[in-house]
Amino acid sequence: MKRMFNFAAGPAMLPEVVLKTAAAEMLDWHGSGMSVMEVSHRSPAFIELIEQTQCLLRELMQIPSNYQILFLSGGARSQFAMVPMNLLAENNKADYLITGSWSKLACEEAKKYGEIAISASVEHENFTTVPSQTTWKTTKQARYFYYTPNETIHGVEMSLVPEVGVPVVADMTSCILSREFSVEKFGIIFAAAQKNLGQAGVTLVIIRDDLISKPLPFTPSMFDYRCHRDSHSLYNTAPTYAIYMMNLVLQNLKNTGGIAAVSDANREKATLLYHFIDQSDFYHNKVDPQYRSMMNVTFRLPTVALEKKFIAEAATYDLLNLKGHSSVGGLRASLYNAMPIAGVKALLHFMKIFQEQYGNKQ
Ligand SMILES: *Cc1c(COP(=O)(O)O)cnc(C)c1O
Repeated sequence: MKRMFNFAAGPAMLPEVVLKTAAAEMLDWHGSGMSVMEVSHRSPAFIELIEQTQCLLRELMQIPSNYQILFLSGGARSQFAMVPMNLLAENNKADYLITGSWSKLACEEAKKYGEIAISASVEHENFTTVPSQTTWKTTKQARYFYYTPNETIHGVEMSLVPEVGVPVVADMTSCILSREFSVEKFGIIFAAAQKNLGQAGVTLVIIRDDLISKPLPFTPSMFDYRCHRDSHSLYNTAPTYAIYMMNLVLQNLKNTGGIAAVSDANREKATLLYHFIDQSDFYHNKVDPQYRSMMNVTFRLPTVALEKKFIAEAATYDLLNLKGHSSVGGLRASLYNAMPIAGVKALLHFMKIFQEQYGNKQ
């Protein structure tokens, strides 16, 4: 059996020890004589698992007690609708900062439910930077300010948390647990699990108590945060296996030094790759250096034909899924928490060989 280095943007690699534990517990979870998949979501054992998962999150991310931790289904994209449906009830205005494809999609979705203003956008610069805060416009009486700290497709990340006087909503799908965030600076943090939290199927929502109130009148119960809060994330059958996997990922993170340790490792991995790209005249990264993503490193080669060749030859070195998103082309190496530094070193080794073979030898 061999394990590949999977550079996909999501679903992404999982820590090997997590997969081994899941395999070992597959037929008999904690003496139940059943897989965790077969256990009732309302059984005491599963409720304990949910509570333990919330405790781990609270501890690792230092989530204050006035925030609810919800496990929902429907992916991050359901939150694109759920956020405006729940927050725009009393006042129909919100501001969106557009720094890439994901914030743009969230903004388009929100427009169905209220008066949405674009605070600033860098689409005219092909999303290679973040608009300077001095250019941001804010709407009077906006109910919230929405942004995407890490734009997965363009490889653009901003570390500054907006301070705009209204609750900040952040789509952290591709950066949660990758570095430290002060949760108290946010109104809502949400993240689908398939990048840094586990597997596809569950979406984590961390929401300040006072932001949970009556949604717009037509909101389906499944999209009403109150239903999920009141039923402790068991309003409908919860995505049980995905929650179990998240629990294993969080336990592993805790055992390996928590967010501080993984954030150092992430910085080291990304720095190695950016440094190599910068000293090369063959590989290029166009993102403003102060906003380069630690999680998704995008880069280009001199021609599209070479990029195709790169992807095909990388696979022969067990380096998979380096193709950039189809909307932007190019290449992308996603370096989430579970990507070992050995994966980055193997990629650099291959990149050197590829450059020697196809680069201009000046
Ligand atoms: C991957 C991703 C999404 C989409 O997540 P789904 O679970 O497929 O809806 C949304 N936002 C960001 C920032 C992402 O990286």
